[in-house]
Amino acid sequence: MKISVVGTGYVGLVSGTCFAETGNYVTCVDIDPKKVEKLRAGQITIFEPGLEKLFLRNLKEGRLLFTTDLAQGVREADIIFLALPTPPGEDGSADLKYVLGVARDLGRILDRYVVIVDKSTVPVGTAEKVRAAVAENYAGEFDVVSNPEFLREGVAVDDFMKPDRVVVGTQSERARKLMSELYGPYLRSGNPVIFMDERSAELTKYAANSFLATKISFMNEVAQLCERLGADVDLVRRGIGSDERIGKRFLFPGIGYGGSCFPKDVQALVKSSSEVGYDFRILKSVMDVNERQKLHLMPSIRSYFGGGIAGRHFALWGLAFKPNTDDIREAPALYMIDAMLSEGASVACFDPEAMDNVRALYGDRIRFADNPYDTLQEADALIIATEWNEFRTPDFLRIVKNLKNKVIFDGRNLFDVEAIRDLGFHYVSVGRPANL
Ligand code: NAD
Repeated sequence: MKISVVGTGYVGLVSGTCFAETGNYVTCVDIDPKKVEKLRAGQITIFEPGLEKLFLRNLKEGRLLFTTDLAQGVREADIIFLALPTPPGEDGSADLKYVLGVARDLGRILDRYVVIVDKSTVPVGTAEKVRAAVAENYAGEFDVVSNPEFLREGVAVDDFMKPDRVVVGTQSERARKLMSELYGPYLRSGNPVIFMDERSAELTKYAANSFLATKISFMNEVAQLCERLGADVDLVRRGIGSDERIGKRFLFPGIGYGGSCFPKDVQALVKSSSEVGYDFRILKSVMDVNERQKLHLMPSIRSYFGGGIAGRHFALWGLAFKPNTDDIREAPALYMIDAMLSEGASVACFDPEAMDNVRALYGDRIRFADNPYDTLQEADALIIATEWNEFRTPDFLRIVKNLKNKVIFDGRNLFDVEAIRDLGFHYVSVGRPANL
């Protein structure tokens, strides 16, 4: 099949590459000429485990092309995916200017039947808006399908190649057939394509992300309670997670969720709800809890240093919003950095993949170290903001040698409380007894 993917970011590049991997001919379109130039030259633009190998293979085989020219990029396509940004607008709703802008441009270009697929996360009713935007300039036949993407950064290739399910919102038999054909190779183990109407498909994506964000905020509230009641959230988590109605995943407390999806999608669903006269109260609380949680460690840090941190210097491990990605959008680490800098402290940081992105934002306002241990010199304490695997069993002797004080504030509960206490550290984590 001939596929076009418009928007070559995290979703577009993974989708395009994975569609090429099963033999389709894929052209990815992006307005960013530097990005397209790099990709054409065989340089991958995001860090995503396993992606580079597939990308290079399909580039070499000629199944994966890149262009900035939309008309050229969609010329032969059977299916055109829109994997464009839908950032929060000023009022919190998803801004559709990229999606509708491209839809209008497509109307000027199309001259035959195609399926246009909304892969971006878009509010209910967007498929109709895309249809209308295309139809402003094109009177021929086409279908608009909603096919939200559920991949997770960090395991995106696996998620795409072996999805738990594929949701396809369409009422067109022709589009349904093409989408079934396209996704067949990814669902060989029997996971379903779930067909539905466009509106339900659009809402499914927001409901999924909002539910997961709710689970995280719920556990963060349980962790708060544990700290106040002398319980251990790790034990409570295991106690409830083994109930299959609850499940083990997404029960880890920490310093809040970030990323390009949960914060904006929860906010957008609250906004969409209010537009139809519904007050989605649970989600408002989910957002409130998360805002507070991002700075959960700050009071303990201030209090350890006698009430203020002006003039203190901190080592910070982890910048990405979660491990195995270089994505720093809405990363809790950045909220911590802002708080520390605004209170007169200084920061030396390390992240295995996200430092270039953070450097672009902070320049020389913070120091970037070559490895985790280089952050520790002259640091008053170590703070951990992302649970990269390489931080899980560090060389504690090296930490002790370099840190000024044996103090760790851990926003991701990486270490065993007893073990680290035995090493003589003052150790603060989230929802566990050492905080008492
Ligand atoms: P991104 O910012 O990484 O990528 C978007 C790309 O679109 C960028 O490369 C940008 O240059 C390009 N672009 C912007 N305007 C364009 C135009 N007019 N023509 C061509 N290209 C254009 O975004 P992303 O993280 O890939 O997210 C895309 C969509 O997918 C969003 O709606 C997001 O909510 C959704 N989504 C993201 C994830 C994720 O984990 N990142 C997962 C599921 C769904």
